[in-house]
Amino acid sequence: MANHLFDALFAPLAGRGGDLLILPDGRRLNGAAFLDLVAGMARAMQALGVVKGDRVAVQVSKSPEALACYGAAVALGAVFLPLNTAYTPAEVAYFLGDARPRLFLCDGAKAVAMAPVAAQAGARLVVLNADGTGELADLATAATGDIRAEPCAPGDLAAILYTSGTTGRSKGAMLTHANLLSNAEVLVREWRFTPDDVLLHALPIFHTHGLFVASNVALLSGGAMIWLPGFDAGAVLRMLPAATVMMGVPTFYTRLLEEPGLTRDLVGHMRLFVSGSAPLLAETHEAWAARTGHRILERYGMTETNMNTSNPYEGERRAGTVGFPLPGVELRILAEGRDVPVGEVGMIEVRGPNVFAGYWQMPEKTAEELRADGWFITGDLGMRDGDGYVHIVGRAKDLVITGGYNVYPKEVELVLDEVPGVAESAVIGVPHPDFGEAVFAVLVARKGAGLEAEAVLAAIADRLARFKQPKAAVVVDSLPRNTMGKVQKNLLRDSYRGWFR
Ligand code: ATP
Ligand code: MG
Repeated sequence: MANHLFDALFAPLAGRGGDLLILPDGRRLNGAAFLDLVAGMARAMQALGVVKGDRVAVQVSKSPEALACYGAAVALGAVFLPLNTAYTPAEVAYFLGDARPRLFLCDGAKAVAMAPVAAQAGARLVVLNADGTGELADLATAATGDIRAEPCAPGDLAAILYTSGTTGRSKGAMLTHANLLSNAEVLVREWRFTPDDVLLHALPIFHTHGLFVASNVALLSGGAMIWLPGFDAGAVLRMLPAATVMMGVPTFYTRLLEEPGLTRDLVGHMRLFVSGSAPLLAETHEAWAARTGHRILERYGMTETNMNTSNPYEGERRAGTVGFPLPGVELRILAEGRDVPVGEVGMIEVRGPNVFAGYWQMPEKTAEELRADGWFITGDLGMRDGDGYVHIVGRAKDLVITGGYNVYPKEVELVLDEVPGVAESAVIGVPHPDFGEAVFAVLVARKGAGLEAEAVLAAIADRLARFKQPKAAVVVDSLPRNTMGKVQKNLLRDSYRGWFR
């Protein structure tokens, strides 16, 4: 038995003199140096008693060392478990209690606050600082000897990745070696990655987008990454001339469009811009194309499934859609147990080598969402257009049922967003004494525009059927978003649930 994931992503770095990581301070790490880092981290973890199947939880800043910990976990057959750096000790307590990791790596600044949390979960707390220093690094230097990648079966777990918690409490998705490798292979081919690529990486690495989509694809293709600690529009503009590809969430693109420095010249050499994790407004897609000459390639995926669909590399990248199922991924759209006709909305289900092995320690939840024959019920509502492009209409949990009618928030949001002065909107359902739920709009004004909620509602009165029109609207400064740029409608629902009472 081999360790195919390690052999595909990390082993080829042996002896590679070319850059793997390009850091914003000008430092560069070639492939061989990074593989040394991986081996060091693996030795340190081994010294701390990590064996195959152990969970290794990490809540650390994005650094070369943090990525090396992922490689080390893969090498040892351990289960990598990255956590959002924003989580508080109380939140971390839930994840550690749930996953019971052998190790918990965290920043030295948080060690005191996290110590009782780790102890409670029976995990050994080990410090890894943002600059790569700390106990783990010390152990890496002290331990010696070669690291032999632990043999792993395709179905062995490589990671437990917690979902973003947009619709409720985060669930731990169990991802296998085969899940990760198969998806990376498909994306490298579909998006035409080669060893010449330099990926501008400004995403966090505790989420599937930054860790698996971006890093795995770059590693597998033999390319390099510009490794930014986070998204900063100025830093991205400075580094873009050295990149060939960027992957981002929609807010990266809207923020960059606010920068006068984003010009056609600056990005003329770029090969590809990819967007995902949240819906990219068609307006942003068009504005980006007008400003830069590039059509952003939008794709759709989730923690549980890696990537499911993508717009085509060659051919039309259709704004407001997520393209076609990736090779090897089956996708169907069902309503009342049947495939819906073209143009009609239903629940998206997917099946393929990318689909996870279930939720960690949640057999009931797994049984509800992952069918015995392999189809995963995504919770996303979608439709196919006449050319087969998949459109995401929203999440089933966000569907508003008002007076017995279904209202898809996205349809209403698209109409609201066209009203002059509206920058963006979120439509939710809130409890209503007569209708059960009422359609409710939360509006954000364009910079400098004075916006009256009533006037916006009047402006759309003849654009939508009466039952789809919001019964009330408010204007706010900004929508609550999580790190991946997803609008947290659960928070909005909480804020406005008493409106009609
Ligand atoms: P939770 O499952 O905990 O509520 P989450 O679903 O937001 O959180 P992720 O797995 O990070 O957690 O996100 C996957 C979801 O992101 C998808 O189910 C889909 O709703 C949304 N998504 C991803 N890409 C796109 C896209 N291109 N367009 C629209 N939605 C997208
Ligand atoms: Mg989800």
